[in-house]
Amino acid sequence: MGKLALGVAVGVAVATCAVAGVVVGRRLRSRRKWRRVVGVLRELEESCETPVGRLKQVVDAMAVEMHAGLASEGGSKLKMLLTFVDRLPNGSEIGTYYALDLGGTNFRVLRVQLGGTRSSILSKDVKRQRIPQHLMTSTSEDLFDFITSKLKQFVEQEETVSEAAQSRTRELGFTFSFPVKQISIRSGFLIRWTKGFAIEDMIGCEIIERLQAALMKKGLDMCATVLVNDTVGILALGHYYDADTVAAVKIGTGTNACYMERADAIIKCQGLLTSSGAMVVNMEWGNFWSSHLPRTTYDIEMDMESPNPNDQGFEKMISGMYLGDIFRRVLLRMCEESDVFGPVSSKLLIPFVLEMPLMAAMHEDDTPDLKVVAAILREKLEIQDVPLKARRLVVKVCDVVTRRAARLAAAGIVGILKKIGRDGTGGITGSRSRSDAKMRRTVVAVEGSLYTSYMMFREYLHEALNEILGEDVAQHVVLRTTEDGSCVGAALLAALHSSSSSSSEGLHRRR
Ligand code: ADP
Ligand code: MG
Repeated sequence: MGKLALGVAVGVAVATCAVAGVVVGRRLRSRRKWRRVVGVLRELEESCETPVGRLKQVVDAMAVEMHAGLASEGGSKLKMLLTFVDRLPNGSEIGTYYALDLGGTNFRVLRVQLGGTRSSILSKDVKRQRIPQHLMTSTSEDLFDFITSKLKQFVEQEETVSEAAQSRTRELGFTFSFPVKQISIRSGFLIRWTKGFAIEDMIGCEIIERLQAALMKKGLDMCATVLVNDTVGILALGHYYDADTVAAVKIGTGTNACYMERADAIIKCQGLLTSSGAMVVNMEWGNFWSSHLPRTTYDIEMDMESPNPNDQGFEKMISGMYLGDIFRRVLLRMCEESDVFGPVSSKLLIPFVLEMPLMAAMHEDDTPDLKVVAAILREKLEIQDVPLKARRLVVKVCDVVTRRAARLAAAGIVGILKKIGRDGTGGITGSRSRSDAKMRRTVVAVEGSLYTSYMMFREYLHEALNEILGEDVAQHVVLRTTEDGSCVGAALLAALHSSSSSSSEGLHRRR
């Protein structure tokens, strides 16, 4: 009996130990799994670090590369393209002008009526729509047929409203936001596509000729008088409102910047004479690269799998087209490391499955139990029942990716200011000390949904700008959001360079 009791007791104890062992084992395993996902996050955080010292290195690298790109053709990954825009609108423009804006997710057609006194845009009509995906990789004829047919509809609608029964040819500005080699303000050749466009037959072609031919085919009596990049349009609109505007930055699907440069600093184009002694330079800063940029394995993999490896390195860390995919790659890695998120969802294997606005929505989810995060994981990525603490991790990943992007964009902006001596340090040569460099009010026009619609992005960018410049200098630097600058600005430049305006004969050079 005693033996039996002892046997039972031992049996129970062994069973209890075994159960406890299983529970402890499970806990240990789950803790280990959790530690692994947290490890992925920590590693991401470390490789995305952007302390102010590193940002200043990026600032310097940007200013140096700008110099190199201006010194010789191919002297830098920064193309520093001439735009032949040597004057910017000042508010005295008058009349009705049009613009076509092609260059990202959306395509826009616009008409503005200008009143001739500062900042008086009497009316503005914009029609925007998405570019059908198949046209991005089709033929130039298909693409131009599409955009001119939209323009035709726009103009026909205007006629039914009996607006502007104009006898003269309508003039339009064409915003074409891809790297273009311009030879005058109204002529340029496509260097290469970016942002997912790939229409082989267009590369090396003159853009306005193509547009003009398509306009003729549609029977539209319109004349494209200026060809500009979206950032140039943004700068034009910024300057129309505020004459202290010296640069423009776009952070949308892609990212780019332009600024007003002294003509004599554009060394690669010797003897460049402009009426103002200056010219807007389209930096194509998306292609900026520096070893100081904090790069992760996710960036490297995304770049290798992209249609343009080793190109647009800065853009791939900053802009709306790419951030969602960096996030996807991190989350996929977390799912592979452990089953905290359940089995690996096949959705996570699809490149670019997570669009930027959804990533922004998860980042900015302010519900106490992160409902928005749960819904997006469930509905977009088919990841079900993610525990709250794992959802917090997801928010953290968004934060790390976005913070790095915004801070690098801020460093890029300060790089421009440094190049033109507006960063409070006396410019790239640093000849004057910070204390005796008098800081002038400096305005940078900014557009693009990341800046305008993603509050966390904007806050991080401003924070970094203050850190890099220091408050004394930063108070003189104003980032001003403009609206539809890419197309309104093109219409303003069309007005400024109108064939009916006296000084329309612009600069040009041989190809
Ligand atoms: P463009 O296509 O000319 O660059 P936008 O400036 O509108 O035009 O930028 C579009 C990019 O911004 C897309 O990548 C889009 O996913 C992203 N985006 C749109 N809305 C938001 C948002 N609320 N938060 C973050 N990103 C956004
Ligand atoms: Mg655009």
